[in-house]
Amino acid sequence: MQVRYQLRHSPLLVPGGTRRYYAKTSPLGKSASHPARDHRQPGLGLFPWVEWLDMVSRRFRTTTHPTAPAKIGTPVTAADMEALLAQPGPITLTTVGVDWVSNLSGLLNLKHPVAVAAGLKNRKEPIKVYLYLVRHPERGLFLVDTGVSERFAREPASVGVGWALRAAANVAAMRPEPSTAQVLSTAAEPLQGVFLTHLHFDHISGLPDIPVNVPLYTGPGEAGTSVTLNLLAQGTTNRLLRGRPPLQELQIPSNPEGALDGVLDVFDDGSFFAILNPGHTAGHLAFVIRSTYGPILLTGDTSHLRWGWDNEVEPGSFLSNRDKARRSLLALKALAGRHPNMQVRLGHQP
Ligand SMILES: [Zn+2]
Repeated sequence: MQVRYQLRHSPLLVPGGTRRYYAKTSPLGKSASHPARDHRQPGLGLFPWVEWLDMVSRRFRTTTHPTAPAKIGTPVTAADMEALLAQPGPITLTTVGVDWVSNLSGLLNLKHPVAVAAGLKNRKEPIKVYLYLVRHPERGLFLVDTGVSERFAREPASVGVGWALRAAANVAAMRPEPSTAQVLSTAAEPLQGVFLTHLHFDHISGLPDIPVNVPLYTGPGEAGTSVTLNLLAQGTTNRLLRGRPPLQELQIPSNPEGALDGVLDVFDDGSFFAILNPGHTAGHLAFVIRSTYGPILLTGDTSHLRWGWDNEVEPGSFLSNRDKARRSLLALKALAGRHPNMQVRLGHQP
């Protein structure tokens, strides 16, 4: 390892010091008065702090907010779920999207051969931030993701959005029209819970408008997703979750060899399914809803954009594991392909 190499050859640890050691062993035969660099080693550890910082940052969890196993739902097979999809279900779904802008290079893998062939280049891409109102006749009103609260977009510091994230993620471009509070005020019934596709800030940006006692559900291991970006985002995520009960992690056994990685019948009545769909984040979820007018797939950020979905190109820099992200995208495409009556709603575009 680079850092150890540097220490071993430190003048403090090698009798005679670095200069004499290199003079004796250099394949370049330099004299002691011109100490040679050993070019067989990968670099000289000039910036060990960069390695250290990278190591630490990769261990940064998405949030240090407590988690607990959720006590709802029953694991089922993909086949169990799919056998039901020809029949309408009991749920009504309302989709609300507000405007935002982000970098195409984050939303879409521009190095994918299909994107290269299409000549796509990085640019500012107009996108939406969604929330979905899920109404179940007996269970009541739930959300999938949270939209954007007025305060998050207009006064981000007041709800704990850190300056670095504000600067890096173009929070000021979010247009909370309607805001999550406005959507909930027209719903006219209490919220029973929020299912989060994942914990990225643009999916919890409506939390300031959601009562603090409402249960929040995530995929298994979602809170522990570790990426460098969390250096900027973890503090914000923690502050948005502060004062709330532990995140409820849905218990979905993983079967990477299956048609879908894992499926949970959330309400135990075959109406609403959480699909384990890792890659964008470790515990990313998609959802399949049996609505009164047929099945609906919410892909979450497994596919941000319409172009990515149509061309089977996974997200760009906004993901934690590219191989898994690609596999998850193809699994959802195959699912939709098996059910032509299924509506597909993407993470950030119609
Ligand atoms: Zn997103």
